[in-house]
Amino acid sequence: MTTSRQEASSSLTTGEVGARSSPGGLAGPPPVTIIYIEGFGRSGTTLLDAMLGQVEGFCSLGETAYLWDRGLTPGERCGCGAPAARCPLWSEVLDAVQTGAHSMLPEQMTYWRDHAFRLRETAAAPRVFDVRVMARAERYLTALSHVYRTVAAMTGADVLVDSSKSARHGHMLHLLPRVTVHTVHLVRDPRAVAFSWQRDRADEGLPARPVGRNAKAWTFEEAVAEMLRAQRRGTRSVVRYEDLIAAPVPVLRKILREAGIDGAKLDFVGDSSVRLEPNHIVCGNPSRFRTGLVTLSLDAEWETAMDRRQVAAVTAVCLPWIVRYGYPIRAGRFQPLS
Ligand SMILES: [Zn+2]
Repeated sequence: MTTSRQEASSSLTTGEVGARSSPGGLAGPPPVTIIYIEGFGRSGTTLLDAMLGQVEGFCSLGETAYLWDRGLTPGERCGCGAPAARCPLWSEVLDAVQTGAHSMLPEQMTYWRDHAFRLRETAAAPRVFDVRVMARAERYLTALSHVYRTVAAMTGADVLVDSSKSARHGHMLHLLPRVTVHTVHLVRDPRAVAFSWQRDRADEGLPARPVGRNAKAWTFEEAVAEMLRAQRRGTRSVVRYEDLIAAPVPVLRKILREAGIDGAKLDFVGDSSVRLEPNHIVCGNPSRFRTGLVTLSLDAEWETAMDRRQVAAVTAVCLPWIVRYGYPIRAGRFQPLS
């Protein structure tokens, strides 16, 4: 497996800013490739993360953006089963970020994760955005760099898979020097997403959310991702969750091809199953604990069990995106790509 884009540094703008302004020694570190999965919750981002992590030379990270608060919540466990603070991988990452001349405490990381990015700044020009964010949140970005480089050094992985989901957070990764980011925008039928969110799975850390509120949030996140895509050059794959489940090999090949990664073996994937090794996925869906031979099956219960008025409401709110992604307006007529 080779990463033809790996030697290319991130965009010139980010490389210049990072190399010039970072007192943390960011200039000149080994290049890192990140496959960043963005998408709405319960769209299969954790599953895709785990699947990509099976590729030789890849490492699944999970939702690193939330390591600092949700990941350290009592009872929360890494994919390996240990709390992050005692996980052999994430405990090293936490140490790396919290020690040294530019250390950041978890609460500082949480604050800057939520405040480093101001959406309105991206409307002008990416270069203006880059400079402003670097000036405001340099230590946060330095800490993020420590996160990825510590994982790469400890695991020996060439490609890190991050499924933090937030398009805004993914956008900031382009500011890290010598980091190549390939974005995978994973989308799932918003009616299936809304139906899933209205189920109360609080015992798994997944509280219910009303359908209407969910549909508005889904549409907003799609709009944000689209705006950021227009602002940033870089490679990007758009994948439907339903296609991933129906035809996993072609979908994974498409992602790798569009990321510029050649020659990867996908012998861990069957027509309707995937073999998953234990992982260190932090945060994310409880599906991160599934290992061994995992059957891939599409949960389309919303088509028959969801209240018709709710289906109509979500369809109305999300209609432009439903059409754009090729979902049928009426339930039961979906045809996956093959
Ligand atoms: Zn772990």
